[in-house]
Amino acid sequence: MSIEEFDPSPTVGTVRELSRKWRLESRLNRAATYGTALDRCLDCEVEVNGRAKTIAGTAFTRERRIVLNSALFKLGREADRNSTFLHECAHIIANLHRRRDCGHGRGWRDVMETLGERPERCHTIRYLSPKAHAIETWLCRECGQEYHFVRRPRRRPEHCWCGKCGPRQGRLALHWQAAPPPRAKRAKRKTP
Ligand SMILES: [Zn+2]
Ligand SMILES: [Zn+2]
Repeated sequence: MSIEEFDPSPTVGTVRELSRKWRLESRLNRAATYGTALDRCLDCEVEVNGRAKTIAGTAFTRERRIVLNSALFKLGREADRNSTFLHECAHIIANLHRRRDCGHGRGWRDVMETLGERPERCHTIRYLSPKAHAIETWLCRECGQEYHFVRRPRRRPEHCWCGKCGPRQGRLALHWQAAPPPRAKRAKRKTP
């Protein structure tokens, strides 16, 4: 008997199909002035990924692909899912329209405004924040700034300092640490 793993990135549909399902068609159609850039965005495939802990979504313009975090598909999170979806669509439309990677610059912001979205680089989604997934947190003794680690940091807090307060003032201390995973489980874990 072998253990089968679910495909971690199943395709959930094209942007066109999902925008219908999620009633975002009229929002995307506001970008009709972008012509073929919008058409090609509508043909993009959307995938779901459950491995990313803190990334809501990613747009791969050349591959015509959008990846959304599976955490966005839980009940009650439709608004976050929709805004992430439109955010990534705006990347594809802007990049195709301007024939270059616009990042979160002017080209992308223009599309976001056309779609009726606030052109914010990233919106705070609590359950995707590093804090929600931290296994270790350090604290600056000077300013109280918290530093969250999603993976076990290689360095120790006493060998680092707070970026805001500098090496003299910004001494760091371990604030919180999750219990380490059981040994057996750790040994079995494969490195991809
Ligand atoms: Zn973005
Ligand atoms: Zn500090």
